[in-house]
Amino acid sequence: MSGDAGTPAATRTTCPYCGVGCGVLASDDGRVAGDPAHPANRGRLCVKGAALGETLIDADRLRHPTIAGRRVSWDEALDRVARRFRATIAEHGPDAVAFYVSGQCLTEDYYVANKLMKGFIGSGNIDTNSRLCMASSVAGHVRAFGADIVPGVYEDIDEADLVLLVGSNAAWCHPVLYQRLLAAKARRGTRIVVIDPRRTASCADADLHLALAPGSDVALFNGLLVHLAESGALDRAWIAAHADGLAAALEAARPSARRVGEITGLAAADIAAFYDWFAATARAVTLYSQGVNQSSAGTDKVNAIINCHLATGRIGKPGAGPFSLTGQPNAMGGREVGGLANQLAAHMRFERPADLDRVRRFWQAPALATRPGLKAVELFDAVLDGRVKALWVVATNPAASLPRARRVREALAACPFLVVSDCWPTETTAHAEVVLPASSWGEKDGTVTNSERRISRQRAFRAAPGEARADWHVIAEIGRRMGWRDAFAWRSPAEVFREHAALSAFENGGTRLFDIGALAAIDDAGYDALAPVRWPLPAVGGAGGRLFAEGGFATEDGRARLVPTPFRAPAVALSGRYPFLLNTGRLRDQWHTMTRTGRVPRLLAHARAPVVALSPRDAGRLGIAEGDLLRVASADGSVLLRAALDPGQRPGEIFAAMHWTEAFASSGPIATVVAAACDPLSGQPELKATAVRVEKVAVRWRGLLLGRSRIRKTEALYWARARLAAGEAIELAGTEALPDGAGLSALVMRLLAAPPAAETVELSDPGRGIWRIASLVAGRLDACLFLASGAAPLPRPEGLLPLLGTAIADDRRPGLLAGGGAIPSRIAAGGRVVCACFRVDLPTLERAIAAERLGDVAAIGARLGAGTNCGSCLPELKEILRDVHAAAE
Ligand code: SF4
Repeated sequence: MSGDAGTPAATRTTCPYCGVGCGVLASDDGRVAGDPAHPANRGRLCVKGAALGETLIDADRLRHPTIAGRRVSWDEALDRVARRFRATIAEHGPDAVAFYVSGQCLTEDYYVANKLMKGFIGSGNIDTNSRLCMASSVAGHVRAFGADIVPGVYEDIDEADLVLLVGSNAAWCHPVLYQRLLAAKARRGTRIVVIDPRRTASCADADLHLALAPGSDVALFNGLLVHLAESGALDRAWIAAHADGLAAALEAARPSARRVGEITGLAAADIAAFYDWFAATARAVTLYSQGVNQSSAGTDKVNAIINCHLATGRIGKPGAGPFSLTGQPNAMGGREVGGLANQLAAHMRFERPADLDRVRRFWQAPALATRPGLKAVELFDAVLDGRVKALWVVATNPAASLPRARRVREALAACPFLVVSDCWPTETTAHAEVVLPASSWGEKDGTVTNSERRISRQRAFRAAPGEARADWHVIAEIGRRMGWRDAFAWRSPAEVFREHAALSAFENGGTRLFDIGALAAIDDAGYDALAPVRWPLPAVGGAGGRLFAEGGFATEDGRARLVPTPFRAPAVALSGRYPFLLNTGRLRDQWHTMTRTGRVPRLLAHARAPVVALSPRDAGRLGIAEGDLLRVASADGSVLLRAALDPGQRPGEIFAAMHWTEAFASSGPIATVVAAACDPLSGQPELKATAVRVEKVAVRWRGLLLGRSRIRKTEALYWARARLAAGEAIELAGTEALPDGAGLSALVMRLLAAPPAAETVELSDPGRGIWRIASLVAGRLDACLFLASGAAPLPRPEGLLPLLGTAIADDRRPGLLAGGGAIPSRIAAGGRVVCACFRVDLPTLERAIAAERLGDVAAIGARLGAGTNCGSCLPELKEILRDVHAAAE
């Protein structure tokens, strides 16, 4: 369907990144704009969404199926997959095969995969990377509401008087929703409380930041529940009408409530202010995200939050409710079809014989799975120990994203039959026997569901490269080749969607809230034109809005449950050997393992290299300076990262981003270090608390390589690369002394990868430990290398970047490498362009604010443009303003 706003002949589609689910107008020439008609974003996009057009790069895409690296036809590849799956099942049973899919999959992909595994192969072994994202919310919802339901809608954020952000850096991870929150604050004075061990960008606008001890959220909310009870703030009439379990929840809460200050480490006055604000504010929304879910007590955290909303009747009402923000674009769609190993389908459950019978009859399933399958972490354990012998990974990169990544790679390497569907080569495709090229965003059709239950279309607007195909189509083809022709006979995603909608309504009669029966008979044109719509959407009864204000929960008796949540300390055990707590998470401008966003220079400008943030107090104690190279090691592995001193870190705790892999940095993903303690109910791993040690690495030399081509073999202990507008910048560091004489010359030529015919220009000062060498090929600047031994400074070479690939006249060559100041240490550590839209970096901002006495973000915007486009950098601009003004006082 074409839009008529923003870009002529644009296609209305949905952003493929976070769970906000913004509408996008996209044209095949790569222009994108926010869709003013989409209710999630009303025309806004964050910096990642705004840069989507720049990700439409077909270089490096997987274009053809391969078997053991050999290009094959689709027929040959599909036959191999079907035959190996059939043989594995025949020999070892259905539980010897598994699918590991993704919140990037469209609902139609998910539906087909779930039906094939649970209905026809006959195993529950389909899990998804959404297990890492929100499985604890699913488990908490089911315990409290009887089904996996988000009660609220985005309008609640517009209409709240108090918003809690719990374990959520929404300013970076759900930026457009955060902008809605700031608009509400400006309009109605909404109070914001951030509950997070770290001082994040979301704290810039907070009225109160509770930097609680990691993993102590349950105690904090248990204390709130007791406070509500003791201060007369419970809604006893609502509870009597709609919820059970208050007495038991209070009893379980009291021990930790009595010690809440001790457990959380928070000041009594701050706790009291928070409790009083919540007790006094009817319109209170609790937004929570990975800091809650990614925990060995994640489900209890979710229920401790929900308990407080149920106890006050603040649920499903305008501006009130607990609200899980999903990380991925279609985590919710996956939950709707039953894409988690412990779900059956369409919100029906393994534990209910009637549900099993219903799904069996609907699918006419010959071998319906009758028990849950393996959850993500245990699934890869089962691959490693040989219980799972054939695995299909779709649209995700577990070799870089699952905890204990080294062990996961061992499992992938040991798997007798691994097939991977993806758009680009990854650390996971590297292990696959069969690689299937998948169509990507902009090339495929289907639906996604965002955090507020809103189903939107993703639409194709460009051709897939090579022979890439949509995942639903490929999975259905495997189903047919395995012998189930009729059950997998769809010819379009619309047909899949109709069946999915029909299952949601099948023998429903109001017993299951997930009901989109009104869409079961949608025709192809209607599917094509489908406007964003929220469920429940039964055949009769209108579109879904807020839920549960008047009860009607999905339990047998229609009543909600307050769940006892006794406080349990986090599973992590610090020790003398591993005294630091490692937290991991997202950055503002990157997505997952960077297969898409890592290709966009302006998205890399915000953080060019991976760093580990630590408190200045710890740094001082350990003799660590900004930019120093550190080894971060746990019992499971180690990585090398540059130090970034961050006063927002609590002493004893460090933070590293989840995004970097070997494609971008020498030491690979932080997941190598992360342990795999899981929540006992949800199976979600604790990605935010691993015991580690931090050691400073003695670096003997540093380097910077600028080039127009991808990284060559380097001989450095550490490297990190970033794509720039005019090539690539690669940071290097080594722990051995640089060679001298011929050895150094050979190293330089290897790093420059200069062909024999290349000319070189050199401006070195070996006495000071400085080498600057450029190579020219056919008169054009091909690469530049800067090396600095010991404490010698590296130059700041920005002026050279536009010259890469250009002809350099003879008379300019002698001065080519002259000039340029020393690189400040934080630039060496990764540099930072704060406003990616207008490319305004931190030094420019600091200078302008100080010299021109800029007083607020509006003044910065008027002077430099920063913050006036997508708004993603506004929280950082406020922090920088505060810091510069504080330094000037
Ligand atoms: Fe995409 Fe999320 Fe940004 Fe919206 S807020 S543009 S969905 S990344």
